[in-house]
Amino acid sequence: MGASAQDIDALLPQTQCTRCGFEGCRPYAEALAAGTTALNRCPPGGAHTITALAALLDRPALPLDPACGTETAGMVAVIDAARCIGCARCLPPCPVDAIVGAQRQMHTVLEDLCTGCELCIAPCPVDCISLQARPASARESVVPTPTDNAARYAAHVTRQAAREAERLALLAERKRRATARVSLLKNERAP
Ligand code: SF4
Ligand code: SF4
Ligand code: SF4
Repeated sequence: MGASAQDIDALLPQTQCTRCGFEGCRPYAEALAAGTTALNRCPPGGAHTITALAALLDRPALPLDPACGTETAGMVAVIDAARCIGCARCLPPCPVDAIVGAQRQMHTVLEDLCTGCELCIAPCPVDCISLQARPASARESVVPTPTDNAARYAAHVTRQAAREAERLALLAERKRRATARVSLLKNERAP
């Protein structure tokens, strides 16, 4: 029997960066378990992850597929405070909730949590987020591990789902009130 998606997923960096061409680490793991994709598509994991996957899957190791990017461990996002307009568009895409700030306030990246996944860069309307090498002082102290990343991503998904449920409940309540008002008006105008 081949390796399970769960075992494969445990070897992936859990940045959810999508550079492998899948919607996150778990979907890539599932495709690897099904034998429908190559094992050399994870730039954050690089050669280390390819070697681990090759051993688990009993397949030959391959060089990282350049179409997916280059090995990018050790990078963090940095926000240019002078240009940030506080729009908060970078918050929802961050899989590990590493950006802090409120509407109309300058935002900042918590470098101890940032995986360098780049998912916050494209949504920024003023292009004030860039990737930089993790500061030397932080390199050895608090570099997020795959386990940390997975836990923060799970919390992120739970928070997003709760926010969405709250939004839908609010919409449903507004609709209920509007429908009740319309019924009341109709009843008042009825002869
Ligand atoms: S960390 Fe690797 S496996 Fe996970 S989404 Fe990024 S490229 Fe894909
Ligand atoms: S701050 Fe940006 S680069 Fe860092 S983890 Fe969040 S989305 Fe990824
Ligand atoms: S998306 Fe860019 S401008 Fe908007 S809050 Fe984030 S860093 Fe600031």
